[in-house]
Amino acid sequence: MHFTLPEGSWETWTEEQCMEALYNARWPDGFRCPRCSYAHCSVLRSRKNPLYVCASCRHQTSITAGTVFHGTRTPLRMWFRAMIWLVEEATSVELSEILGVTYKTAWLIGHKLRDALTQQSYDQLLSGLVAVTGGIYGWRRASSSLVMATSDQPVAIGGTVEGDEDIREIKMEHLSKREAGSSRLISRFAHMKFSDAHVSEEVKAVRAFPYFGMNKLAPLSAILTHTLRWFDHTLRGIGPKHLQAYLNHQSFAFNIAKKALAVVPYMLHLCATRKRITYRELIWAS
Ligand SMILES: [Zn+2]
Repeated sequence: MHFTLPEGSWETWTEEQCMEALYNARWPDGFRCPRCSYAHCSVLRSRKNPLYVCASCRHQTSITAGTVFHGTRTPLRMWFRAMIWLVEEATSVELSEILGVTYKTAWLIGHKLRDALTQQSYDQLLSGLVAVTGGIYGWRRASSSLVMATSDQPVAIGGTVEGDEDIREIKMEHLSKREAGSSRLISRFAHMKFSDAHVSEEVKAVRAFPYFGMNKLAPLSAILTHTLRWFDHTLRGIGPKHLQAYLNHQSFAFNIAKKALAVVPYMLHLCATRKRITYRELIWAS
């Protein structure tokens, strides 16, 4: 992820500078035709969002075309603010107030940004010493039953452990009930599958425990508990359909804070290089 950004903080950028930042994030080595990869183009600057015409195949593209910002009428500056607030765990209602946009627009921006994170989370694997555990979303303390209820959603969490059991990086996954088993003590098989998908092959060791509250896993369990409570208390519950997106969102907020990365350039890179998702896909994807 190497591209030049306009001077100063993103908060002081004009809309033109935001466009320049996106251009550099999308084409760090200069223009590339999205259809034929040719490196030369002419530019039609008659519109607000310039058109780049490929000198080889005549394909026309704009800076936002094909990115997460495709077709947006919301200024990029607002999107950048949304990135910051998303990491601060803002809800769609809060986001609409902060940005001064409708709830639907805020909701859509939040979901598109989360989707960029989801696509990215499959590329990055946990490494080093990894611990894996799990928990149940929807579990009520009042219930002492060990049998998984219909509304229960099993969730696995994996984390890279450092020195004093400090967790450096996490990933969370909404498990299929078929794999998790019918007991609230999530099956070892489900944890193994999680490791297969999210843990690097160069890993030193994986410690997986099928149950909650094991001493060594307390920090990891605490993160999961915080996340699941946040879903209930702040967001008033998440349905199974969007659970994974919110798990990715929370993992990202945790990881980026640990790494002290600058949120806007990092997210900008993801949004410029990831496939966009349309409103229709968001609504109808199951
Ligand atoms: Zn071309």
